[in-house]
Amino acid sequence: MNNKEIKILLIDDDEDDYVVTRDLLSEAKNLKHTLHWISSYEEAVGKICENMYDVYLLDYRLGAHTGLDILQKASCRGCRTPFILLTGEGDHETDLKAMKAGAADYLVKGEISAPLLERSIRYAIERKRSEERIYHMAFYDSLTSLPNRILFQDRLRLTIANADRHRHMSAVLFLDIDNFKRINDTFGHFMGDKLLKNIAERLSAIMRKCDSVTRNVPDLFARLGGDEFTVLLNVINEAADAARVAQRIIDAVSSPFKLDGYEIFITSSIGIAVFPEDGEDVDSLLKNADAAMYNAKDRGKNNYQYYKQYMNAAAFERLTLENELRKALERDELLLYYQPQINANIGAITGMEALIRWRQSDGKIILPSKFIALAEETGIIIPISEWVLKTACKQNKAWQEEGFKTIPVSVNMSSLQFQQKEFIKILSGILHESGLRPQDLILELTESTIMQKTETAFALLHELAEMGVRITIDDFGTGYSSLSYLKRFPIHAIKIDRSFVRDITTDPDDAAIVRAIISMAHSLRLKIIAEGVETEAQLEFLSKQGCDVIQGYLFSHPLPPEEISKLLQAEKQGGGISIFEFLKKEALNNG
Ligand code: C2E
Ligand code: MG
Ligand code: MG
Repeated sequence: MNNKEIKILLIDDDEDDYVVTRDLLSEAKNLKHTLHWISSYEEAVGKICENMYDVYLLDYRLGAHTGLDILQKASCRGCRTPFILLTGEGDHETDLKAMKAGAADYLVKGEISAPLLERSIRYAIERKRSEERIYHMAFYDSLTSLPNRILFQDRLRLTIANADRHRHMSAVLFLDIDNFKRINDTFGHFMGDKLLKNIAERLSAIMRKCDSVTRNVPDLFARLGGDEFTVLLNVINEAADAARVAQRIIDAVSSPFKLDGYEIFITSSIGIAVFPEDGEDVDSLLKNADAAMYNAKDRGKNNYQYYKQYMNAAAFERLTLENELRKALERDELLLYYQPQINANIGAITGMEALIRWRQSDGKIILPSKFIALAEETGIIIPISEWVLKTACKQNKAWQEEGFKTIPVSVNMSSLQFQQKEFIKILSGILHESGLRPQDLILELTESTIMQKTETAFALLHELAEMGVRITIDDFGTGYSSLSYLKRFPIHAIKIDRSFVRDITTDPDDAAIVRAIISMAHSLRLKIIAEGVETEAQLEFLSKQGCDVIQGYLFSHPLPPEEISKLLQAEKQGGGISIFEFLKKEALNNG
């Protein structure tokens, strides 16, 4: 044991006993210590939970009370300092009672020697320390040192019992960091972990800043796992108290974090469930706060929402969707639509993007925005992605064999798929089986997919380039990467995100950004595709800036393969007239 000074508190109503104990302790030469003495039960009750001492020596007889009363009080209050009980005479029954009440040891006055006392104190402290370590591992999160799910649930149970007895309200807040995956993807898990630690520290600081007037201070912060945190408010006077705490947390999280020279901006979404209205037990309060958090996400993130009854219906829907999605592949419910990409200068179709659709048994078509994220969360994206690649390659080969001109197909990649070890092997297999040449396939990756584990991505992209498969950066401008950095990777083209294209004719900032992206991409000899082009004015702006390829509703929505066949046929027969004219005529005919 190290030789740190041990702080001992003697609780004994007899001054003679104090003198004896003091002398014994001073004989114990190896025990560096300080000894304080208090003599009354009342004083002891006030002191026991202050956490100022390493060990208590406790007299069994304390006036009208016994040492056992103190032990009970201490254990109720969660006191974690060891007690050694001192009694007048050896008695097996008292010994047993003392141990049951949580005493670390039991010594008979008059039979105590200096070495015995020293050993008892050392053992009590050492045992407490190892208990403490185990306790910490079991109830605290190792990354952030915040309480974990088990401890949170336990405290919530106590809170509910108390609130029930005293007829007051309590609240649970469920917090989730918005787009946290993107941080991990962009900067790696090491940074992600660092950020979580920083978030935990910031949240704990809120807790320490005790606002004694309104008492709107969280009573417990816990990390449930991942980027999910929970907050417990033992007593609130009105539901709005919980909202005030939620807003304080949201504000705290949203000021930038400085990590390794980066300034990282994040936001959070919080769901609130109030006892007793929103749930009367641990599970329903947590579940409902979670549902409310999802609602906050749906409402644009960076906000808090109270739980409302209908939200469980939404959670149920998500679960149903997941189950249905698992079966979608085997039931053959997935489809690929294709959206033509048009050369901005000559008006010809130069490519097409494969976009997945899900036709459910009732005929309803579900868009990827409704299920891709879920597929990624659940891993179902892996078999789905493989199906998409296979189908797109086969279809493209079929069009070539029907005698249409050869144009490449672009396929969206999930980052999960990109992380698959066997990805290159799977892809080669698919190309081989379909007979499609690698140069007829383009993979669309987002910035974050590439920035994640940059070393692996680097190697993988080079392997793809060697095979002859091309890479386009999708949704460019929404991530954290710079174009010059991306240029280190073998990339063929970049796609300007729809959100910039949308406002180029009205928002001068977006116009400037798009102009800068185009000129920079050209200087790096990258092709530029604009997605989401819906108006003539946008087309004109983009053409003027030298954008190479245009994709959007202005020319065509994503279409089923039969419709694409018609388009290709029309273009083939049209000879001279550009596909622009053809599509515009079609659009007019269709009203
Ligand atoms: P994305 O790759 O950025 O695809 C472009 C999205 O913009 C498509 O939505 C397309 O229908 C839509 N779009 C095209 N032109 C316009 C326009 O002029 N105006 C507007 N408002 N929208 C336009 P979609 O098909 O709903 O796909 C959404 C996203 O889902 C895709 O974004 C892509 O990230 C993902 N996705 C689609 N198919 C797959 C797939 O097979 N695998 C994976 N992993 N993701 C996919
Ligand atoms: Mg795409
Ligand atoms: Mg896109």
